[in-house]
Amino acid sequence: MSGCIFCKIAAGEVPAQIVKKGDGILAFTDMNPQAPTHLLIIPTMHIGSLNDTKDPLLLGSLLAFARDLAKEKGLATRGYRVVVNTNPDGGQTVFHLHLHLLGGRVMNWPPG
Ligand code: AMP
Ligand code: ZN
Repeated sequence: MSGCIFCKIAAGEVPAQIVKKGDGILAFTDMNPQAPTHLLIIPTMHIGSLNDTKDPLLLGSLLAFARDLAKEKGLATRGYRVVVNTNPDGGQTVFHLHLHLLGGRVMNWPPG
């Protein structure tokens, strides 16, 4: 989708620190990290938010991708957090579906 920053990253038109590529899935580092490891996992096709998802298999693949990345980054044993902010009350600021993978520190609960 034109004008979408994450579509531009997926198309290679905007630089990002790519950490892993999958079938229709991409992971890159968050430019404003909130934890020692803070990665974003996106579908390469444009989907605005979790509300707009029609394919449960894609959702499963995104989650499995995050799990695999957590293992590869050495986060799995101590733990990590996967977050999908959705729409304004959820704190979503980029309207291209993405999972945050956060780790490397203790996460607080409840979240802010
Ligand atoms: P959210 O608030 O859940 O929509 O998260 C959007 C995330 O995207 C934020 O954590 C931003 O720091 C991150 N972000 C925005 N633009 C870029 C970019 N060009 N490269 C990497 N991360 C970005
Ligand atoms: Zn997009």
